[in-house]
Amino acid sequence: MNIVLLGIQGSGKGSLVIELNRIMDFTLISTGQLLRNEVATGSKLGKHIYELQTNGILVELDTVISVIDKKLRSVTRDTIIFDGFPRTKEQLLALDKICTIDKVIYLNLSKNVAIDRIINRLTCDSCGYITSKRRYNSNVCPNCGGHLATRSDDTIEGVNTRFAVYEKETLPLVEMYRERGILHEIDANRSITDVLTDFLKVIK
Ligand SMILES: [Zn+2]
Repeated sequence: MNIVLLGIQGSGKGSLVIELNRIMDFTLISTGQLLRNEVATGSKLGKHIYELQTNGILVELDTVISVIDKKLRSVTRDTIIFDGFPRTKEQLLALDKICTIDKVIYLNLSKNVAIDRIINRLTCDSCGYITSKRRYNSNVCPNCGGHLATRSDDTIEGVNTRFAVYEKETLPLVEMYRERGILHEIDANRSITDVLTDFLKVIK
């Protein structure tokens, strides 16, 4: 089953993926990670990506799609979860050409809850682990021992900007997938346990 996970930062996608990792077998497709992996192989494509990124240029959609396609061909697990892709209508249509999406899970989060979560968020510099000042009172990462800090764009202004971009670019995808009848909305204003329970019901 091919699943797309949609939701703004702070909606709990990262936490959900961590919880899912403990209980089921799946392949996570995160384009950021795939691009980093491709760069690390030193391939011609990897060199091209590195070149763009060091110059602050967005990697072209064709390149992202070919990296995803390559990954899909090597996947042996039955469940694939796309996290952070597609983000735009153009990306959605390009993804359609290389794979069929069966279910789209939309973690719907209100702006107030997003702001509260993000300004209290602590992120690990080394492994990307995310926790909250509300429940974790230290700057040592419990996952890898690295340093936990507030990201520089985790501010109210940063959240407002992300919401504006999200509403303009990603919400239209929610509607496109809804029209196809494959969208499942989960109320992300609740605990990760509740979100996980709903997620498992949807993919059953
Ligand atoms: Zn860490």
